[in-house]
Amino acid sequence: MAEGHNLTINGDRLWDSLMEMAKIGATEKGGNCRLALTDLDREGRDLFVRWCEEAGCSIRIDRMGNIFARRPGRDDSLAPVMTGSHLDTQPTGGRFDGVYGVLAGLEVVRSLNDMNIETERPVEVAVWTNEEGSRFAPSMIASAVFAGVYDLDFGLACADEDGKTIGEELERIGYAGDSDCGGQEIHAFFETHIEQGPILEDEGITIGVVTGAQGQKWYELEIEGQESHAGPTPMPVRRDALLGASRVVELVNQIGLAHAPGACATVGMLNVHPNSRNVIPGRVFMTIDFRHPDPTALATMDQTMRAGVAEIAERSRVEIGVKQIMDLEPLPFDEACVASVQKGADDIGYSSRRIVSGAGHDACNIARVAPTSMIFIPCIDGISHNEVEDAKPEWIHAGGNVLLRAMLERAG
Ligand SMILES: [Zn+2]
Repeated sequence: MAEGHNLTINGDRLWDSLMEMAKIGATEKGGNCRLALTDLDREGRDLFVRWCEEAGCSIRIDRMGNIFARRPGRDDSLAPVMTGSHLDTQPTGGRFDGVYGVLAGLEVVRSLNDMNIETERPVEVAVWTNEEGSRFAPSMIASAVFAGVYDLDFGLACADEDGKTIGEELERIGYAGDSDCGGQEIHAFFETHIEQGPILEDEGITIGVVTGAQGQKWYELEIEGQESHAGPTPMPVRRDALLGASRVVELVNQIGLAHAPGACATVGMLNVHPNSRNVIPGRVFMTIDFRHPDPTALATMDQTMRAGVAEIAERSRVEIGVKQIMDLEPLPFDEACVASVQKGADDIGYSSRRIVSGAGHDACNIARVAPTSMIFIPCIDGISHNEVEDAKPEWIHAGGNVLLRAMLERAG
């Protein structure tokens, strides 16, 4: 591989490309709305493909509409070193979530061209379809199909609120590719991403060396009490489903605090029935989202919640059904890939720390089928999935430099 301290990407060019892409689906408050497989998503894809072709890449599109831009290697029969992320956004999304990881990959290709560096292995930049899950649930569907988590038919059949499926919309925008989704050997995969949390900025650190993804357990709770009139029903005989739910909210928060700093514990949804001001609530639907990088801690959180919920049900004179709807094991990333990221940051002298990804990313799916790691950079106030999402140009530049070095180390 190429040596030397002047291995660098062109930070200005990367920033300019980000701002150019941000014009597609720009929102009034300075954010982006490029929902998956809309006309705007097509425009973003077209721009990316054009840029990649101008940089000499060949383009392959698979059946889930994932785009792979390839810069050939000296031995083009070798498995590629791949990077990438997503171009789709939330309805009120920002300019960096996902698109940074895609365009940082493109910038690596452009910089390799500038420096006349030939790599032993091919280098590929991937765009994963529908990462956000905002238009089509579930999120990260196309990287999941690629990794064999779901089969292709399931992926293509996912529908939006109007009943339009991913398969139909891929056809419509011209991105229903014919190459197989998955089954491809990847030598190493790196995803560069804004942290979407406050840790790096708070600690004044430039690079997050991502060691893995948190485990997640999601639950749906049905609480059954009894509706009755808010006036004539004496306090001791009430079976107030919302009171039970409130106690569960408090319990979930306590569990999160008890397993800090690794734990996240959230009640994000509460539907109260009949939701009328003078009726004691008879039924509540609610959700719980538990996350932790340590499987033992996550299991303890599960047990504590179940025992606590049983106690609350009795004390509140309600029935509570707990249904677990998702169980993702914590996923450690590949040690060698993590080390490549660390070395990239160290060689340039960037401050860095190990960090676990709190959010889900396409890399978490790819990690199931290929050696993987991620590179985080800070974002202002840790805010993401928001139009004000922002990052400093020097962070953008730094993450790209680390990506360049990590990829070069693995591509030879
Ligand atoms: Zn993202």
